Amino acid sequence: MKIHKKAPRPRKLYCHLFGHQYHVSKKVTSHVNEYTCACCKKQLTTNSDGDLTELTPKFREINSILENMYMRKRERSGSPVFSASGY
Ligand SMILES: [Zn+2]
Repeated sequence: MKIHKKAPRPRKLYCHLFGHQYHVSKKVTSHVNEYTCACCKKQLTTNSDGDLTELTPKFREINSILENMYMRKRERSGSPVFSASGY
């Protein structure tokens, strides 16, 4: 008997076996990045200890605050900022 349903994330097994394929999806500050797995779209971020942790809504909030502070600091220091994305 066949089940006609498509598996929503067929590559999840790949991650389980070989590890996630993280790439930087967003640069928050010079030390904090957000990472997304190319396979299962799981997201990580750098925490205050410099370790990687799951990108929870809480961390997303912290990162947006950090990003704001970082942008402002850069603006004040006079280095060029390309802010194409809406603030
Ligand atoms: Zn993955």
